[in-house]
Amino acid sequence: MQFSQKAKEHIDSCRFCWMCHHVCPIGNATGLERNTARARALGLSLVARDAIEYSEDIINNVYECTLCGGCMTDCVTGWDPVMFAKEARLGAALDGKLPEYVMTMLKNFEEKGNIYGADRNENIPEIKGGDILFFLGEDARAKGCAKVAVDVLKAAGVEFTMLKDEPNSGYSMDFLLGAAAEAKTVMETCAKTLNGYKTVVCYDPADAKVMKREYKEYGVDMNAEVVTFTEFLAGLIKDGRLNVKNCGEEFTVQDSTILARDLEETEPIREILSACGNVNEMLLNREHTVLAGNLIMNEYMPDVMEKVAQRRWFNAENAPKKATTVVTSSVADYALLATTKPEDMELLKVEEVVAKCL
Ligand code: SF4
Ligand code: SF4
Repeated sequence: MQFSQKAKEHIDSCRFCWMCHHVCPIGNATGLERNTARARALGLSLVARDAIEYSEDIINNVYECTLCGGCMTDCVTGWDPVMFAKEARLGAALDGKLPEYVMTMLKNFEEKGNIYGADRNENIPEIKGGDILFFLGEDARAKGCAKVAVDVLKAAGVEFTMLKDEPNSGYSMDFLLGAAAEAKTVMETCAKTLNGYKTVVCYDPADAKVMKREYKEYGVDMNAEVVTFTEFLAGLIKDGRLNVKNCGEEFTVQDSTILARDLEETEPIREILSACGNVNEMLLNREHTVLAGNLIMNEYMPDVMEKVAQRRWFNAENAPKKATTVVTSSVADYALLATTKPEDMELLKVEEVVAKCL
């Protein structure tokens, strides 16, 4: 396993540091030292020095990171455990040492176009509209439902296109393989379709992230403007195309780690919720948010994902003013929070709040 000089520097800086161990959603859920950024770095530093083999256990540990960036955001010295975890995944792929559960997801992708092995969702309609493409994404197509989001866009009179055979954005490939040629090929195929549109509105923040960041980093040409669904929705309310009434309810935001950290977007969801009611903040909000779920990792560590989501409900329940309704725009957070929801609390997608207040 060959690491870049940059990755080696970050690994060596993290390996004896203890400062961000308290922010890791996985470490907090498992209570295991191995799930901290520092422990991962310590193992990889030994691999980088050829002191130990890039073994199955170390590789599994690399896949126990959600790449949520909590550690990186907390790091006052600017080191980046996400970067070296992704490089380590690429190394596992290049060395032919990918774990069995990753191989299964890659096989699913090859056969069905998604890592979950889900059949084509016949309930998703083909909508032919203008030069705005509403991009649902792999997770929403396989695991979720965006019917209310479609209804809200229609209520605003937005002319948009939605594809029955939508290309894969490459988010899951990037998560599993890092900057591998396979991930780039998937992104290039997607960009070819997307470049036929003026604007791409991404329902899932994960797709917006790869299109806005990784496409650029990997040299994938993307001419269409990429907008997050929350940003687009907030714009429709601001422009008066969606007339929402303030229903006086209180909403607590579960910030998507991808929106808040990777895309530095935190305010549009608050603007939407403030137009529909009042915002009651959790302690760990905006860029300090905590991940509530990752659907890819749910494929191989569901027990841990359940605990991660339960811990986020605990944060909401113990907000300075107890949250009653948690709202998120993250497909993965919603899916995991939904399966662990306490009986006395509500969970809504952001578009469901808007639909309620129309
Ligand atoms: S990311 Fe920063 S705080 Fe976390 S282990 Fe590395 S150096 Fe320490
Ligand atoms: S990126 Fe997230 S999951 Fe990975 S070590 Fe950092 S805080 Fe933990």
